[in-house]
Amino acid sequence: MVLSRRKLLRRAAGGAATALVLGTGGAILLRGFDDDASEDSSTTLPPGLRRAALDVHVHVLGAGTWGSGCWMSASMHGSIPVKAGLWNLRLRHDQPDLDQAYIAYLRSRIQSAGFLRQVVLLAMDTIWTAGGERDLAHSQYYTPNEYVAGLARQYPEFLFGASVHPYRADALEELDRVAEAGAVLVKWIPNVHRIDLGDPRCRAFYRRMAGHKMVLLTHSGDEQAIPGVEQRYGDPRGLRAPLEEGVTVIAAHVASLGEREGRSNFDLLAEMFPRWPNLYADTSALTLFTRWRTLLRLAERTDLHSRLVHGSDFPLPPACTLFLGRMPLRSTAAGMKFWRHG
Ligand SMILES: [Zn+2]
Repeated sequence: MVLSRRKLLRRAAGGAATALVLGTGGAILLRGFDDDASEDSSTTLPPGLRRAALDVHVHVLGAGTWGSGCWMSASMHGSIPVKAGLWNLRLRHDQPDLDQAYIAYLRSRIQSAGFLRQVVLLAMDTIWTAGGERDLAHSQYYTPNEYVAGLARQYPEFLFGASVHPYRADALEELDRVAEAGAVLVKWIPNVHRIDLGDPRCRAFYRRMAGHKMVLLTHSGDEQAIPGVEQRYGDPRGLRAPLEEGVTVIAAHVASLGEREGRSNFDLLAEMFPRWPNLYADTSALTLFTRWRTLLRLAERTDLHSRLVHGSDFPLPPACTLFLGRMPLRSTAAGMKFWRHG
């Protein structure tokens, strides 16, 4: 992978700035996964780093092929971002084995990356209304807990990340079920799921989570990848509620988008770390061109580094463009180590 990034950078150096502006070279630079998925990058790593890392943030998406139980709204399934995203994974949105081919491609990437030991696969609950009804009309996609739990049983490189909406009438029972099935964390995107983190139902949910010693991986800051969101639910200050109830919280993306009352969500989150030893953040999606300014700020905030865990946000593609002009090209491989340790 590292070598291929160098290749990309060499290509970029040839036509560089103009091509980037014109968009042709830019497409190459912004595209992730442009290397050979069958190559094994572990041989280029120091032995201690080979197959050693954990990625806590890997999405499972599907259209329900071969009875996977996954679902995607018609508007999302046929959308240009989804088609382009699947093209980037060498998949087509209408192929009859889409869900299975997605998992096969993901496994080949884990193998070729060389530094990963395991990844947490994330289920995705639908939206549930405040009245406790499942709300498919506003949901974009659904990945059932049973499907992801089954994948984690089948393949040793996968861990089970559950998704349970706290407004479900059976939320606590479902939480017990996923804990029994080996879930290591619960994933929410409050802006998408429309979850008020301070809601009394959430409080009961947090207490049960703390009892199961289960981590809450929750999106923080604004969300731009999924339509129909309510950004106020991404306010990092809302994380106080699960933290107070003793839950270990991982704030996804280090709250890297948006602001509240004139202050960036990143700053609002950053000032919470000293008060809350059970607060962490993941580095997922920070190489996206919408978020990489935060990555640069984060690199300078060495006081926060011990609170960071590595996440990729697969299938969102990482882009190497971030490092162009910021360090000598030959050091770009070293720069990528930030991710491996992040
Ligand atoms: Zn994500």
